[in-house]
Amino acid sequence: MYDVIFIGNPVETPSLEKRQVEPEKITSCKGRIGDFSLRYRENGKVKEVKTRAIVVNLPHQQEESVPELPVFSEALESDRENTLIFIQDNEEIASAFINGIGLKKALQAARDNPSRQVYYFYRSLRFTEGTDQLYEEARRAGVAFFRYEQGKFEINPPNKVSYTRGGATMDVEGKIYTAPLLKPSLVLEKLARVLRIIPNEEGYLQAENVYLAPTLTGRRGVYAVGGARSPNGLAGFEDEIKFTLEEIEAIKNNLQPLVEDDREVDDRKCILCYTCFRVCPHAALEENKEQDAMEVLKDACWGCNACISHCPAGAISIADEQEEKGSGLQVFMCENSAATARKKMPQEDLEGFITREIPCACSIKKEDIYASLQDPEDRILILGCFEESCKHLEGDQRGQRIVDEVNETLASLELGEDKVRFERLSPPMEQDLANLLDRWREGQL
Ligand code: SF4
Ligand code: SF4
Repeated sequence: MYDVIFIGNPVETPSLEKRQVEPEKITSCKGRIGDFSLRYRENGKVKEVKTRAIVVNLPHQQEESVPELPVFSEALESDRENTLIFIQDNEEIASAFINGIGLKKALQAARDNPSRQVYYFYRSLRFTEGTDQLYEEARRAGVAFFRYEQGKFEINPPNKVSYTRGGATMDVEGKIYTAPLLKPSLVLEKLARVLRIIPNEEGYLQAENVYLAPTLTGRRGVYAVGGARSPNGLAGFEDEIKFTLEEIEAIKNNLQPLVEDDREVDDRKCILCYTCFRVCPHAALEENKEQDAMEVLKDACWGCNACISHCPAGAISIADEQEEKGSGLQVFMCENSAATARKKMPQEDLEGFITREIPCACSIKKEDIYASLQDPEDRILILGCFEESCKHLEGDQRGQRIVDEVNETLASLELGEDKVRFERLSPPMEQDLANLLDRWREGQL
């Protein structure tokens, strides 16, 4: 059993047992975080390898944004021209990563030949650690920066640009370098299918939760870094790989399920239609051949209940649901505020409520809320942090927005008003939490 398998490029992992597999060779991936079985083809044979975690680390595909013009990453050595023109953000606003490459190249061009004129045209500069310094150095070295607006800048290959600002137009001639367009590697689409990860609209593996944990994918234990994650995946690569390896270390030492209550498949009811397998966004269901039925892989399950609401045979349920379901009052608590207060409350004050801990008020998805509202009496309370206290860049405000949008949809479908409520608490407010729950139960909020 390896600790981690890198699909694509490996990185140094001093305390983790690792190996690497080429993305094109992978044929299937079964199992769950802590115990994946990866099959791949080698020398005409199918081989299998076991691992606790998987990291997909692939480069981007780079395309020219203007045909025939060189891109930032091409060498400067052969340039004899006195004037060089760098154009960032031609077709689309470039990522911070490309921003960094362009600034570095412009700085090098100015330093290599101080008599040369270097222009840098951009729509938006995205400063990350290091790029702000590059910008300052480039300015000091004589690079002339011009911000342009879409539609007021024209490229006339092979060597002319026109720049309009405040009614005046400036024409510049020189060797032009443009920012490349970054696209996901061609192999990512197939890899997403094999790994059972839903890619985002652009085709990258990292779909959401970028603020919380940028390298997580929808499948627990599978991480996307670098060009597999997003166009920005290379700008913060060092930090992101560090976060990922720490996560894997934690899995190795103490793997905990994400949800307290287990989803179970009744093998007498399951007709093996594979609906749950297809709808589970987290690849947490697999066929159990011995039982002749599906099985929920508990460590992989996020508790979204999509499988329960889609199973045509009613074969999936929450273990001990009847006892737990109580009044249908479900409370999702941010682990940084309300969940901390809850731990200090007497257990009897929580009777009648189903409580769940979530990483942030914004980490609950709309489809999970809809799936949790199964009976007309069901209501949901989401408890997040106070404004300015959220550790996750305004997660409280995003949580509030999610709740508002769900309520709007429910009202437009005449499915009830204010079934979902958003409130704020802080960790020491256990008494306020008890009062809040009481008032919510009585419909007095
Ligand atoms: S959806 Fe229900 S019946 Fe179909 S495979 Fe899954 S558990 Fe079995
Ligand atoms: S509850 Fe959600 S994550 Fe868990 S098995 Fe069902 S669909 Fe998958």
